[in-house]
Formats: sequence, C-alpha cells, structure tokens
Amino acid sequence: MTLMATYARLPVAFVRGEGVWLYDSDGRAYLDALAGIAVCGLGHAHPAVTRAIQEQAGHLIHTSNLYRVPLQEALGERLCRLSGLDAAFFCNSGAEANEAAIKLARLYGHQRGVAEPKILVFSQAFHGRTLAALTATGNFRIQEGFGPLVSGFVRVPYGDLAAARAALAADPAIVAVLAEPIQGEGGVRPAPAGFLRGLRTLCDEHAALLMFDEVQTGIGRSGKFLAYQHEEGLLPDVLSLAKGLGNGVPIGALLARAPVAALFGPGKHGTTFGGGPLVCAAALAVLETMEAEDIPTQAAQQGQRLREHLQRRLGGHPLVEEIRGLGLMLGVVLRRKPERLVERALDAGLLINVTAERVIRLLPPLIIREAEIALLTDILSTLLEDES
Ligand SMILES: *Cc1c(COP(=O)(O)O)cnc(C)c1O
Repeated sequence: MTLMATYARLPVAFVRGEGVWLYDSDGRAYLDALAGIAVCGLGHAHPAVTRAIQEQAGHLIHTSNLYRVPLQEALGERLCRLSGLDAAFFCNSGAEANEAAIKLARLYGHQRGVAEPKILVFSQAFHGRTLAALTATGNFRIQEGFGPLVSGFVRVPYGDLAAARAALAADPAIVAVLAEPIQGEGGVRPAPAGFLRGLRTLCDEHAALLMFDEVQTGIGRSGKFLAYQHEEGLLPDVLSLAKGLGNGVPIGALLARAPVAALFGPGKHGTTFGGGPLVCAAALAVLETMEAEDIPTQAAQQGQRLREHLQRRLGGHPLVEEIRGLGLMLGVVLRRKPERLVERALDAGLLINVTAERVIRLLPPLIIREAEIALLTDILSTLLEDES
C-alpha cells in the first residue's frame, strides 16, 4: 500500500489530453464529460494555458507573499472586475477558499459584537473536506467519524427561503449565509427562482454577509462567468472560487466587498503557496481566453443544446426522473441508483460521474462542440437503454 485508499479509483490512467478528449497509454480515446470535476473548462492542454505555464516556469515559479507578486495583483484586479467585488485573497483549493470565507465571517461577527458568531448553511451542501468546510457540508457521510465538528453552523433546507428567514429571525448570532447558487455534489440542484435574491434581502435585513460558494459553478460553468450573474444586479458580499480558475493548476480565491475584505488585515490569514506566479499566470491565461472568446456564452449555448439532446433522447425513459441544471452543469436524475453506470460508460469511452447516488452529473469542458455533444448523448442513451 503506497497510496492511502481515500478514492475508489477506476481502472484507467490517462497519459495525454486534447480539448474534450483524454487518451490512455494504449492510445484509446475517451470523451471527457467531467473535465476533472469542473476543472478543465477550457479543455485539456489548452495552448494558451500551456504557453503561460511554460513561459512563467522559465522565469519564476515561487517567491513568497512576503513580497509583492505582480501577477497576483493583475489576477485580483481582473477577478474583481469580472465579479463586481473589491478585493481578492488567493489560496490553493476550494476548501481553503471556504475556510477563508468562514474565518472572514467570524471576524465580521466579532466586529459586530457577536461573541459566538454562526453561519447559516444548507442541506445537501458541499463546501470541501477541511474541518470547518466539512462541518458546513450537508452530508453525514462526509462528516461521519470526524467529530467533534466545528461549532457555529445552523442548517436549513436548500431552497427554503421561509426556513432561512425563520432561522435568521430566531438567532441574532447568525452573521453570514453560505450557499452554492447551484448545488453540485448535492445532486446538481439549481437554486429555485427567487431564492438567491431572497437570501440577499434577508442578509441585508439582518446585517449578515451573503457568501456564495462558486467553486464549482464559477468561471463560466453555468453559462455566465459567475452563476449569481444570471440574476440582474445581484451581488454577494463574499465569493469563493477554485476548480475552473486554473484549468488544472491548483488555485483558489476568496473575493469580498471592500468593508468586509478590510477585516483581513496583516497577520489575519495567510498561505505559503497561495497566489504564486506560476498559478496566477495560468489563471490569467484562463480568464483572458474566457473573455476573448466569450466562453461563458458558448457554455450557455452548448449547455442548452446538450440539454435538448438529453431531453429528446432520455426525457421519456422510465428510469429518468428529471434533467436539470444550468449551462454545462447538467444532471440527469434517475429514479434509482444505476448499476455500474460509470464503469460501463468508461468501457464505452465516456467519462461521467454519478453524484448523490442517482444523479448523472455532466460537466464537460466548456469548449465542447455539437458533434461531441451528439456523441455524448448517443453513448449515454445507449447505456441507459441497457439499464431499463
Ligand atoms: C469541489 C468543491 C469544493 C472543494 O474544493 P476542493 O478544491 O476540492 O477543496 C467546495 N465547494 C464546492 C461547491 C465544490 O464543488
């Protein structure tokens, strides 16, 4: 045993990738409808990202956050412009971005004079695997065995605005609300209409921070650069990003409005690797490409197309309960847990994921084209025919 058995790995290893395709050591091609779990939005081996990494690696990989990092400043500026928020902190993963958000919310609570500040979170939420992030996560199987959990979280059902209102009214110690605009691991559940805006109003009424976890939904995945941008004029106070930001290099980001961001003064938070020159160069190449080629709009269009194909081919299938999602974050909800579907898809040359037991989660690269969408749908519907 050389690797800890934390993952139930499939019996395949890839040696090369290009666009939406991955190749194993025998040269066999696989259509990647998972993109490293919403990471490789621009596809594999995107030339602009590869070039940025190669060039930066030849200049400078790491200095320290004890010094200015101009690429980090440029990336922060770009993310602030794209998000409408005011300041950025860089880390190395989604869990770390949420951990920073939780710390920031507690500082905010203490500044407001709340001795034991709490954060409102939701059922089926996923926020990562560090101790506070897994406490915020609404999945017993992720928390089981890791008690005592972190105190200071209150949970209500996702999408239930009345429950959120009641919780905030009942407990003045709740100083922040943390929510995914579309729940990913929880089963590709988009927020019901009016839910996110309703949370904004509630947070304003209670002087609580609205914190969106867009680790999975962000960077074009939902068909907008950020999922909350589907709602005209809606802004959170705090935003966490990771997955798609580096197209595969590990980078996470926390963004916040100015008065909140100012709470992270010198010495309040930090990380050795966060926002180093190499990952920032890669992320800048990602954002430049996203903007120059309007990738979020492409994701919206191709997502619509994929959804229509799926609806046409699978909508009437007795096993299919619902097809839901936004942009290129789609879920085919089955009525029961499928039999070895991921393994059979792999045999058929298609990489998919099943989350929340019975939701086929499709997160292909945002650059997927029509022919590949047709192929994906073909393979998936053939596999499901065998299931019924
Ligand atoms: C993946 C994910 C995380 C955790 O990100 P890591 O980089 O794995 O720590 C947090 N929140 C959401 C919504 C995610 O999808």
